Amino acid sequence: MECYSLLRTDVPDLIDHLGAYGEIVAPHSKGDVSYSFEVVQDSNKVVLDYDRTLLPLKKMFLPPQEKLMDFSLKSLSYTPIKLHIKPRVFFAIHSYEMQSILRLDHSMLSGQAESNYLRRRKKSRFIGISFKPDEFHFSESVGIPIEEMEGFDLYLNEVDGDYQLYVLTKNGHSLIEGFEKIKTAEPEIAEDRKFNKKIRFHYNRLPQVFQYAYHSEIWAEVASRCVGCGSCTLTCPTCFCFDVKDEVTVTAESGMRQRSWDSCMLSTFAEIAGGENFREKTINRTRHRLYRKFKYITDEEGLPWCVGCGRCTAFCPAEISLPDILNDLINEDEKAQHHHQVMA
Ligand code: SF4
Ligand code: SF4
Repeated sequence: MECYSLLRTDVPDLIDHLGAYGEIVAPHSKGDVSYSFEVVQDSNKVVLDYDRTLLPLKKMFLPPQEKLMDFSLKSLSYTPIKLHIKPRVFFAIHSYEMQSILRLDHSMLSGQAESNYLRRRKKSRFIGISFKPDEFHFSESVGIPIEEMEGFDLYLNEVDGDYQLYVLTKNGHSLIEGFEKIKTAEPEIAEDRKFNKKIRFHYNRLPQVFQYAYHSEIWAEVASRCVGCGSCTLTCPTCFCFDVKDEVTVTAESGMRQRSWDSCMLSTFAEIAGGENFREKTINRTRHRLYRKFKYITDEEGLPWCVGCGRCTAFCPAEISLPDILNDLINEDEKAQHHHQVMA
């Protein structure tokens, strides 16, 4: 693996150099306290030190709202929307965010691939960056260290305020070809980055905890605080549920079909014709959300479908913490195990 040193002050020049490949998308400040992935207009405005963006990178591959087709009810025909997708470089991406894209690949491309997602995903290049975990990140507990480089073409590791640039793929090599402000270096490890938030069990034990947690009283306690706003799922990088709606013009001659993000935490999500609702109560929705992250898909794929970004906790108005729920379930599981041993 090639490793180079890069001065922090030369990063804007690197971004400009990458622009030869295509559009650059990178974190930008939004107001005083928030960050957002945006198309770069000025490389000096890219933020290198950020905790997390409000919306995940998913929005670039699966937009919050997307028109899919126009249709005519007169001629009973439809015209799919043509996408014009440029090659894109996603710059300064944290490891948990990259892992969320790899999980979305599985969700959107297994079986019949979702064609718009696939087209956006092709020709994408990813450049990772290290970060300092805050009180909400817990990605290490779900198997994703800060320096996890899977999926990246290049990776910027901060050491003493400047960067080490790792070249991880052939595409990464092509991206930096001709960029002269880097020097060959020996890889170094930064020691000052630790996770504050942890899950007490290794993540591969969580499906077993969930196997016995369905009737836990913890769900009711969490549900009693939840206001059902849906922020936790709408900001989650691995949630992919959407709704599809047709809008017909007043003349009833034509219309358009639109897809938009949906949330299993919203009370209407599981509502069907006749007013029936499969998950009418908040407790059912709360439990379902966590089982989707740590049991249902995990049983099939062997990985948690949570990447530990901390968004669902950081942006929850009721301060409901996902790792705290997990640790409470683990404590309860341990007590139950102890009880069984004493009684045996
Ligand atoms: S963000 Fe918090 S309050 Fe809103 S639905 Fe999720 S858990 Fe409930
Ligand atoms: S469940 Fe929460 S911590 Fe896990 S990936 Fe989704 S938003 Fe991030």
